[in-house]
Amino acid sequence: MPEPLTPGELLALDRQHVWHPYGPMPGKAAPLLVESASGVRLRLAEPVEGQDELVDGMSSWWSAVHGYNHPVLNDAAHGQLERMSHVMFGGLTHEPAVRLAKRLVDISPEPLQHVFLADSGSVSVEVAVKMCLQHWRSLGKPRKQRLLTWRGGYHGDTWQPMSVCDPDGGMHELWQGALPRQIFADAPPAGFDAAPDEAYAAHLRELIGRHAEELAAVIVEPVVQGAGGMSFHSPAYLRVLREACDEHGVLLVFDEIATGFGRTGALFAAEHAGVAPDVMCLGKALTGGYLTLAATLCTTAVADGISHGALPVLAHGPTFMGNPLAAAVADASISLLLSQDWGQEVKRIETGLRNGLAPAADLPGVREVRVLGAIGVVQLDHEVDMAAATRAAVQEGVWLRPFRDLIYTMPPYITGDDDVARISAAVCAAAREG
Ligand SMILES: *Cc1c(COP(=O)(O)O)cnc(C)c1O
Repeated sequence: MPEPLTPGELLALDRQHVWHPYGPMPGKAAPLLVESASGVRLRLAEPVEGQDELVDGMSSWWSAVHGYNHPVLNDAAHGQLERMSHVMFGGLTHEPAVRLAKRLVDISPEPLQHVFLADSGSVSVEVAVKMCLQHWRSLGKPRKQRLLTWRGGYHGDTWQPMSVCDPDGGMHELWQGALPRQIFADAPPAGFDAAPDEAYAAHLRELIGRHAEELAAVIVEPVVQGAGGMSFHSPAYLRVLREACDEHGVLLVFDEIATGFGRTGALFAAEHAGVAPDVMCLGKALTGGYLTLAATLCTTAVADGISHGALPVLAHGPTFMGNPLAAAVADASISLLLSQDWGQEVKRIETGLRNGLAPAADLPGVREVRVLGAIGVVQLDHEVDMAAATRAAVQEGVWLRPFRDLIYTMPPYITGDDDVARISAAVCAAAREG
């Protein structure tokens, strides 16, 4: 065993050597040191604001839907670890990957039949884009290599995904000019239940029609735009995209990395609209938050297109493709989800968040409170004071990670009513102080 390090030593080394998401080097704000996690609670290595554990309001960025240290997922990981944690996927295959792929085909919209297992959400989006471009190239239409999306989106941090993130005010604004230039529609009008806006639908149709010759695909997050601004829109616009893409010969990609596996109240957000994409990306909750894994699913038509080209293969193959450990845990996580009335749990959390967040609407500086499925958002009329908002949440015994003007939560589905109330109180406190 290595020499134990004190919390103080760990934090000093962290600051000196370790990058954190969207962070400076050396680090500015000290992160909280987590020692272990169980159920919905993160146990801290040393008390902060008098709390030695925090209820996790973030599900580790949408992923830990069953909470931490779950016996079923632990068993799946241990069992697979004893067989093999990894083996290369070129020329070899194994039961965890095959089982997982078959299950994803079974539970996703019907036309999606083929699965590429990637190692992170961003990579799954890269693969989706490569699939679409290569499909058209193989069919003799190499000009079709641009993407269309709507503003306010987020698709990851590698190059192609960055090019379809919101170009203004988003995290990747810095890279305008260096990134591939994509086509942006206006952001979809807000509101899951709002009546569809005909003028906006016409705007989408017109743009897709006008650029059809150069468009490989339209890529969007269905129903919920996550890290681009936590906004919700009517599923009707997804039907408009589907129709316009079919009419003009453009592929449709749904990035369900955040929305997949029940978070919005449907197993996949596409189901709210009753449409199927040609390509779909999954990640985040795929392994229940245990290991990094993502998937790109496509239709037989997309795969056939690729297989008819001069290069009749999909030239992509990450070293850790199909990682057995991650695949085994993912399959167990999906079984666990489907073995329970997850829809009822999401609805219960939705009700708890609606009640618990309602008081925030009357706070000064709050622009809007919105809830959909197990997602609760308080939008301020100013940039969040991160330090103050985080401190306020921690004082309530809750972990939150606000960004921009948004204080939001997407709790694990196992979060009990008392803890949903506690998270809601913390969001309100953060909105008051932040
Ligand atoms: C998080 C996210 C990604 C990127 O996934 P990573 O695993 O962080 O690379 C892509 N798209 C959406 C919608 C996401 O929420």
